[in-house]
Amino acid sequence: MKVPELWSRVNDKELSMDTKELDKAYVAGTYKRFPVEIVAGKGSVVKDPSGKEYIDMGSGIGVTAFGIADDKWQQAVTQQLSKVQHMSNLYYTQPCAELAKMLCERTGMSKVFFCNSGAEANECAIKVGRKYAADKYGASRFTVITLENSFHGRTLTTLAATGQDHYHELFQPLTPGFVSVPANDIIALEKAAGETNAAAVMIECIQGEGGVVPLDPQYIKEVRKFTEEHDIILIVDEVQTGNGRTGKLYSYMNFDIVPDVVSTAKGLGGGLPLGATLISDKCKDVLGFGDHGSTFGGNPACCAGAISVLSRIDDAFLSQVMAKSDYLFKTFTGAPGIESVTGTGLMIGLKTTKPASEVVAKCMENGVLCLTAKDKVRLLPALNIPMEILEKAAGIIKSACND
Ligand code: PLP
Repeated sequence: MKVPELWSRVNDKELSMDTKELDKAYVAGTYKRFPVEIVAGKGSVVKDPSGKEYIDMGSGIGVTAFGIADDKWQQAVTQQLSKVQHMSNLYYTQPCAELAKMLCERTGMSKVFFCNSGAEANECAIKVGRKYAADKYGASRFTVITLENSFHGRTLTTLAATGQDHYHELFQPLTPGFVSVPANDIIALEKAAGETNAAAVMIECIQGEGGVVPLDPQYIKEVRKFTEEHDIILIVDEVQTGNGRTGKLYSYMNFDIVPDVVSTAKGLGGGLPLGATLISDKCKDVLGFGDHGSTFGGNPACCAGAISVLSRIDDAFLSQVMAKSDYLFKTFTGAPGIESVTGTGLMIGLKTTKPASEVVAKCMENGVLCLTAKDKVRLLPALNIPMEILEKAAGIIKSACND
């Protein structure tokens, strides 16, 4: 059967088989996929070709902030698609300008650079950090200090920033000028910064891919104080933690600090590729004409969707996120088969007695899609997941941990 014919037969059982075969034959083998094909969905429920429903507790790894095929997001995107779906960055487009204004007003930052992914948002953040330091202190000040167990992306530079050796091994040489230090050890960070004449420090307030490991709040404050005192650019990677995920618009807002540069992506676009680097007043003129660019960055359809997402993440909405979070923490803490619960808001890691992969497989069998992060079961549901669906999913996860 020809491929286009297959596409039009979404309910045919054969499609699921053929999609898996096609994928295995033609898509680069970088992903270990679960044996499930998703063909449709609404909100926090998705369906496979047989019609089996799953509660989506992963939201595309924290991307579909308002769930699958969210009406308001869809409307914003399709309206924009019918006007202009793309325009080069040689011209002004309203959604891009509007979203940048919104991001600045909500964070106190001064400028935004748009791109398409988290890794690219971090690339830009690193460029800002390095150029700020080079402009002011000379070209020898370029080192970026990151934390062990961090994750900042898959490009060669963001891999270099990622403090996990196993990601590095096959791709040497990586971009030079990155040093990782143990998290929550301010003395180690200060020492490394002094020895390397550091330009920037980059942290995630909760290490997502690292196993949903929150940094010590006191440490976050100390890092801010130290970097401020030494004019070292503090970059906070909010790719996974951002856009309401932790009960604040950005996770750094939980700690009463203001970074110099913030990178974000994932949930911002609500399901379309969009990354953003938010640049504070201090660094706002670091990037000038020709210093950076992206063909798709600031795409009007992606930005229109993001405006719809961002405009709904207000205080009332964030308090609902926290109410759902409290419910999950209460449900899982001390439950049989669950050793610990980590995270904030709707970014939750469960250390289970059974291997996380077994729990996730059992959940899938029983109609719940969960993620893993290192040895944890990771939950990143849509921020607007209805309470009754969340309760159902939590029940299934709890029994899967204890079976
Ligand atoms: N930074 C963090 C904290 C992430 O969690 C991720 C992805 O999981 C990235 C960066 C990379 O984002 P992307 O896959 O969109 O490039």
